[in-house]
Amino acid sequence: MPDKKYDVVIIGGGHNGLVAATYLARAGKSVRVLEANSEIGGASQSVRAFPEYDAHLSRYSYLIALLPDKIVADLGLSFECLSREVSSYTPYGENKGLYVSRTWDAKTEQSFNEIDPSGKEGQAWRSFYAEVAQFAERIAPTLLEPLKTRSQLRKQIELDSIWQYLVEEPIGKVITERFDNDVVQGVVLTDALIGTFASAFDLQANICFLYHLIGNGTGEWKVPKGGMGALVNELVRVATESGVEISLNSKATQVLSSDTGVEVSIESGEVVMGQHLLSNAAPQVLAKLRGTSAPKSLDGSQLKINILLKRLPQLKSGMDPRLAFAGTFHANESFTQFEAVFKAAQAGVMPEKMPIEMYCHTLTDPSILGQELQDAGYQTLTLFGLHTPAALFDRDNDAARDRAIKSALSSLNDYLAEPIEDLIAAIEVKTPLDIEEAIALPRGNIFHKDLSMPFREDGTQQSWGVETDDPRIFICGAGAVRGGGVSGIPGHNAAMAILSNN
Ligand SMILES: Cc1cc2nc3c(=O)[nH]c(=O)nc-3n(C[C@H](O)[C@H](O)[C@H](O)COP(=O)(O)OP(=O)(O)OC[C@H]3O[C@@H](n4cnc5c(N)ncnc54)[C@H](O)[C@@H]3O)c2cc1C
Repeated sequence: MPDKKYDVVIIGGGHNGLVAATYLARAGKSVRVLEANSEIGGASQSVRAFPEYDAHLSRYSYLIALLPDKIVADLGLSFECLSREVSSYTPYGENKGLYVSRTWDAKTEQSFNEIDPSGKEGQAWRSFYAEVAQFAERIAPTLLEPLKTRSQLRKQIELDSIWQYLVEEPIGKVITERFDNDVVQGVVLTDALIGTFASAFDLQANICFLYHLIGNGTGEWKVPKGGMGALVNELVRVATESGVEISLNSKATQVLSSDTGVEVSIESGEVVMGQHLLSNAAPQVLAKLRGTSAPKSLDGSQLKINILLKRLPQLKSGMDPRLAFAGTFHANESFTQFEAVFKAAQAGVMPEKMPIEMYCHTLTDPSILGQELQDAGYQTLTLFGLHTPAALFDRDNDAARDRAIKSALSSLNDYLAEPIEDLIAAIEVKTPLDIEEAIALPRGNIFHKDLSMPFREDGTQQSWGVETDDPRIFICGAGAVRGGGVSGIPGHNAAMAILSNN
């Protein structure tokens, strides 16, 4: 017999579970959220990672593009994202660098002209991203609606040639056709590979690219003021004010569905029942709890490093580090490097020079550091290493982690005038296996499972992309269609799926 009954029980207190819970509670449903960990927020938490330093770092996710303004307004979140003036900086050669501002300007043009004095590469960049922006603007509002079919969405968007190269053909094709320079091609390609272990010529990379470019209709990646945990704090506030019961240290161990509802057993021995169950935990975790077969997915393939620096390092190129690290800093991420490292990693080889990207949160928002650290000039660096699939860590996670750190820092040091090691006050490193252990992302996959295109195939049933084979059970997390990333979208859509049927 269940100890308590609710309209909706939610397994997992990630940001999506909290979004779903709040929409449902405000519609009059009784809701209980069960979070396995002692920390709420899942992959969106901020933590004081180094007890001796007053620094609250976004431990896993760190930038926001996909969270629709509508969700922030609907839920009344007092939460702000800050724009970065610099989009990216990519050092190359002995002492050069490609600088890109958020909006095209003279400095960006000059930088492109150094790579290609004919001006063609810069022009190709502007026209490509103008096309992608048009596409983003039209597709973004559909993410909070029931899924359109492939044909319906293509017709509605009315950008056939762009649809063709973004959705139907491998993204590597358009990148290599429209851009000539290996470094520029690589900068474009990164958005297709973050969180996705794929070749540029695999359609899975297209989906990742789309999700990185369509957020809020602009695709702009912004800095969450106060860190990612500031979003979670606000979500907890609105959820509890709306009457949601949140239980920490409450790991679900079994899910049993029947005609009367869904029973969830918790590690403590408590059993709760919901008329509906939402899983914010990954579909693979839900399958295990239900005793059904789990969907197959790619390995997570990133190394996440959080660093507290005594100060920013100088660069060989002479670029001001306050500009170089304000946007996304790419190292060893040219197109050919990506393809070569992908093949090697597929064959089980840890990259010697890991393709990495980084940014400095504190250049845009110093508030995550205590005043003393700010006054002393400390900064944070978030480093994201690519093409390091979980399989590389299976045999000996600790030894592979050591190799991976060396590879990532050596990749960075290629472009620094002084070794980064001399400036590190504290460092924390998370392999895909570490992430799986901490927050149950299967194989460390940052999107829970492979991302899917934001439509359903022609001839399939109407859906919100959150349904399962059990009409009482829905996915409300990153593993839903249009899930993945800090977006709240699957949380919103799962709530709507329940409310539209009741
Ligand atoms: C290193 C890293 C960097 C990233 N960077 C970015 C970024 O910069 N921007 C971005 O948009 N996205 C980023 N992402 C992806 C993004 O963080 C996730 O896709 C998103 O946060 C998923 O949110 P969610 O609420 O769906 O699930 P999660 O945040 O994964 O939350 C699921 C929750 O379920 C809980 N849970 C699991 N099993 C059980 C159980 N049996 N019982 C109870 N609770 C359970 C977990 O503990 C967890 O708290 C990153 C992810 C990682 C890992």
